Amino acid sequence: MNISIERLTKAYQPNMLALDGIDLTITGGMFGLLGPNGAGKSTLMQIMATLLAPTEGTIRFGDYRLGKDDHEIRRALGYLPQYFGLYQKLTGEEFLTYIATLKGYTATADRRKRVTEMLEKVNLADKAKRKIKTYSGGMKQRIGIAQALIGDPRVIIVDEPTAGLDPEERVRFRNLLEDLSLERTVLLSTHIVADIESSCGAMAVMRQGKLIFKGAPDELLAMV
Ligand code: ADP
Ligand code: ADP
Repeated sequence: MNISIERLTKAYQPNMLALDGIDLTITGGMFGLLGPNGAGKSTLMQIMATLLAPTEGTIRFGDYRLGKDDHEIRRALGYLPQYFGLYQKLTGEEFLTYIATLKGYTATADRRKRVTEMLEKVNLADKAKRKIKTYSGGMKQRIGIAQALIGDPRVIIVDEPTAGLDPEERVRFRNLLEDLSLERTVLLSTHIVADIESSCGAMAVMRQGKLIFKGAPDELLAMV
């Protein structure tokens, strides 16, 4: 799904632009958004996920327009926020069953099938009956991805998913996102270059609310 962002600005307070005229086209596959803390990555992702209104500018997801077709956009989108509240007392399976119900899988057999598919997709089938509070950081991120995928979105947005993961978990998580990006658009934000360089076909660098680079990761690496 083609995503087109035009002249997007966000001011939380007057004269303080968290986003300052973002122009960006994302055409599919895996797209990396790199930038330090405070650059505006979460703000951009929250606006894309229809959770926050921009001050100015537009975003189009295919033919859908932000502010007009938000219901359709929410259906086309899966979002894993940076601080994602998991129900620690539930098992992975119970949690996904709950999300699947919210997403409209009301028939028990359909819902069970969908939950099983998602657990397999993120490699947690053998941990399905364990409580989420016993999961490692990487497993929690993977169950977060599973809930974002339940509605079969065409675009998936993940905000700093590798923060707090050890190197091995980070590689596993990156492989999962690469796999997902074969079938849908994946937008990943991070402050770690290594998360992007091997996986993303295209990327942008954000700093103080502005995009200071757009291109392929090897073009960026050739500059430094
Ligand atoms: P990040 O910048 O990596 O998204 P933060 O810890 O800065 O993480 O932000 C955590 C939450 O607090 C987010 O929901 C963000 O929107 C909010 N937040 C960040 N900065 C401010 C601020 N200056 N005033 C109020 N809320 C903020
Ligand atoms: P990143 O995700 O790249 O760390 P953010 O989008 O969280 O960046 O933050 C961009 C800027 O906006 C920061 O200066 C941050 O403090 C500010 N900010 C974020 N959320 C809020 C908020 N809810 N209220 C006020 N300022 C915010």
